[in-house]
Amino acid sequence: MRLPSHLGIEHGRLRIGGHDCTTLAEIYGTPLYVTDLDRIAGNFRRFHAALAAHYPQTQMLFAAKANGNLAVIRTLAAEGAGADVFSAGELELALRAGMKPERLLFNGSSKSPTDLALAVETGVRVSVDSLEELRQLDAVAAEAGKTAGIAFRVNPALEVPTHPKIATGLKTSKFGIPAEEITAAYAEALASEHVEPVGIHCHIGSQILEVEPFARAAEVMNGVAGEVTDLGVDLDFIDIGGGLGIPYHHDTDAAPTPEEYAAAVMPVFLRGIRECGIDPSLWVEPGRWLVGDSSVLLVRVNSVKRAHRTFVNVDAGFNLLVRPAMYDAYHEVLVAGRADAAADGTYTVAGPICETGDLLAQDRGLPAPQAGDTIAVLDVGAYGFAMSSQYNSRPRCAEVAVTGGKHAIMRRAESFDDITATMETPDRTA
Ligand SMILES: *Cc1c(COP(=O)(O)O)cnc(C)c1O
Repeated sequence: MRLPSHLGIEHGRLRIGGHDCTTLAEIYGTPLYVTDLDRIAGNFRRFHAALAAHYPQTQMLFAAKANGNLAVIRTLAAEGAGADVFSAGELELALRAGMKPERLLFNGSSKSPTDLALAVETGVRVSVDSLEELRQLDAVAAEAGKTAGIAFRVNPALEVPTHPKIATGLKTSKFGIPAEEITAAYAEALASEHVEPVGIHCHIGSQILEVEPFARAAEVMNGVAGEVTDLGVDLDFIDIGGGLGIPYHHDTDAAPTPEEYAAAVMPVFLRGIRECGIDPSLWVEPGRWLVGDSSVLLVRVNSVKRAHRTFVNVDAGFNLLVRPAMYDAYHEVLVAGRADAAADGTYTVAGPICETGDLLAQDRGLPAPQAGDTIAVLDVGAYGFAMSSQYNSRPRCAEVAVTGGKHAIMRRAESFDDITATMETPDRTA
């Protein structure tokens, strides 16, 4: 199996950032997320350089929902990243990670009054998803005696080749304002006293393995940029969102590189701003591409059962990695201690959750997995731990960071006390 450069196999054992995965599993216990922070920094630099080579005024906003660990966000902040935040909690994380408010975009299709007040108070730019939200924000900003800088989220009405649950720019999607209505929305924003339209925003979806949809979205944004510039909006930024996919099938997925992405998108963007006679910053919002391949989930085999299929029962399932159950997602799996051994049969890796759909990997060739073995699930850095739950009252596991040849906890495991810590039992006596 092809492996990215931060993973490797030595004497048959899988390594991440130079560390033996079975040793990390012994030291910290399983299940365990292990994240290579240096890989994340490297991914960031590569993506940014690919775009900045075409246009230096490029700002990368990490989509914070992909991975909410502070160590990860701090790593990206130190590289110069801002963030696309989708909730008050993600805004708080980004600020605590040291990101400047001017590098953040507060996004979301359903913001509460508290969200809007927080956005105004912190001075972050807001991606506004409806006219009603615009009016609410204007009122909140007026109350605070401030002006909120906004972009509208444009719905580009594009079909994209990905799982329907993560196609966000379809005509029927809940996100954004239809491109035909966008000029009227900007006109209203210009006329509002306490909001100032300064950007345009779109995001077409996630895990997209072709560059052409991104170029089409950039073309839609050019049209919007032209219309709103004519209206008198002074565009400070054009945000084309995230969504570039990664090769989850290591040997067969043909995933575009950031350089290929840039080669497809940047000429369209550059022509658009030239025709409008403007020089806004370009904002891009990768999530998965920056963090997806940085992490492995280490799980332990509890038992192997030969039935109509052979099940390898492990100690984590969709409580810690929901992508296979939720998106039919594929993740490569390896027996960490015999990572280059030949398969002796076909196995289905099943989690411990009381649900039929709790399968991490189906019908894979593996080298005779046995109780006690460590299995590594690859490419879990994006939408992995971030989407975890305590279902079946399983405390969430620890996350370990590897960086500069060292390893350290970046999130401790939860305990049973953590599960009950927020609960109260009301007195039921009459
Ligand atoms: C989720 C999301 C992203 C990131 O998507 P990836 O596929 O992880 O790159 C970017 N922008 C917005 C608005 C999002 O909702």
